[in-house]
Amino acid sequence: MNVSVVLFTSDLRLHDHPPLRAALDGARQVVPLFVRDRAVDGAGFAAPNRLAFLADCLRDLDTGLRERGGRLVVRSGNLVEEVCRVAAEAEADEVHLAADVSAHAQRREERLRRALEAEGVRLHVHGTVTTAVDPGAVAPASSDHFAVFTPYFRRWSQYRLRDPLAAPRAVRVPDGIGSEELPGRKGLPGLSPRSAPGGETEGRERLAVWLRSGIAAYADRHDDLAGDATSRLSPHLHFGTLSPVELVHRARAAGGPGAEAFVRQVAWRDFHRQVLAARPEAAAADYRTRHDRWRSERTAGADIEAWREGRTGYPVVDAAMRQLREEGWMHNRGRLLTASFLTKTLYVDWRIGARHFLELLVDGDVANNQLNWQWMAGTGTDSRPNRVLNPVTQARRYDPEGAYVRRWVPELEGVAGAAAHEPWKLTGPDRAALLYPEPIVGLSDGLDRFRRARGGA
Ligand code: FAD
Repeated sequence: MNVSVVLFTSDLRLHDHPPLRAALDGARQVVPLFVRDRAVDGAGFAAPNRLAFLADCLRDLDTGLRERGGRLVVRSGNLVEEVCRVAAEAEADEVHLAADVSAHAQRREERLRRALEAEGVRLHVHGTVTTAVDPGAVAPASSDHFAVFTPYFRRWSQYRLRDPLAAPRAVRVPDGIGSEELPGRKGLPGLSPRSAPGGETEGRERLAVWLRSGIAAYADRHDDLAGDATSRLSPHLHFGTLSPVELVHRARAAGGPGAEAFVRQVAWRDFHRQVLAARPEAAAADYRTRHDRWRSERTAGADIEAWREGRTGYPVVDAAMRQLREEGWMHNRGRLLTASFLTKTLYVDWRIGARHFLELLVDGDVANNQLNWQWMAGTGTDSRPNRVLNPVTQARRYDPEGAYVRRWVPELEGVAGAAAHEPWKLTGPDRAALLYPEPIVGLSDGLDRFRRARGGA
């Protein structure tokens, strides 16, 4: 066989890349291809923070390929048509692609298979590229997926991962295959001022530092809002600049309770992927409906806007929402308590919150975002669907000194210690001097409304 095409999607790396390895093993020349898919842009998924990260990833991938004698071919348009066009130009016999889970990815794979077969080109879809354990590889006897994490994790932990693959030494690309210019991050409107840089090189460096000096304390510190002691590898997992298989191997090799707790979180990522693969409609519809009649943009517009802008009057909620806008990333504890606040305290539709997160998160991911939102809204896989996170209790527990709040809410800079969590309790001139809003809702009012809506929950 002479030429194969490798279509990169959410796997923008050279290390541990089964589709690339298979293509190189089976063909003399390979076309590494990325297609900027108009359908993804058209679905509103092209958020500036992710486009910027993507631009870094493509540049880094191209550099890595050039160091090995190759280059990246970039096209934009209808993905299926572009792949067929490149395969025809290169006279390729095969196309290699990583499996993915969303409804969009599943439809794309099917359309691509049919279109390529009509041209006599075979599509190879590779597992364990975007997940450590493939959806369906572990499943309960009675269903096509696990709906509860703990039994899933037990089986996931026993599953024997394949060994990671080395990056290729050489990649030979046929001449004459035209490429568009690589996109850049400059000039993208609406970019968060401090959004993270992307690329495999950056991801591998971050992983090395994390394994050396972060992971050991993860079990104790992952919920410390001000300590910011999580890996921040989520955008790299989303874009596939890091391989989940390699990540789990290396974390396990690090050993200890920190590594164990970290690997458990990475398993949550696979868990949500196997739910979405089996129930793609859960990206937009309740996984387990509670028959909510949520408040909407029409009935709760001002509350929703205050939540988005970080001026609800609850400092820890506002701090987290402002971190999201500024960095395109939010601490997991912040995601949990802001999602609880929107869905349980304000009783607003989880889809409104999920959409806002997807507009800003660099790691914005249909499986992880939508299913975590559903978890917090009580329409997903949580076995305690009516749990409500009290933002003051959460703040006292996970930001005991108030440092996280003061970092993101400058109006409260002068309020010392945990008093920053309840500015409404300040008195006299301290209170009068504060340019910080009053709470938009009383916590017990919110709770009452939620209990009534859920039938006395
Ligand atoms: P670490 O704590 O270092 O964890 C390591 C990795 O494990 C993460 O990078 C992530 O891939 C995975 N992980 C950790 N927690 C979870 C979790 N609860 N569910 C699934 N995977 C997890 N994560 C996304 O990647 N994209 C999203 O769009 C996203 N939206 C979320 C929305 C809500 C409402 C909530 C509550 C959580 C969401 N998460 C999302 C999960 C989690 O908050 C982030 O993965 C995590 O905060 C990323 O930071 P980190 O890389 O430092 O995580």
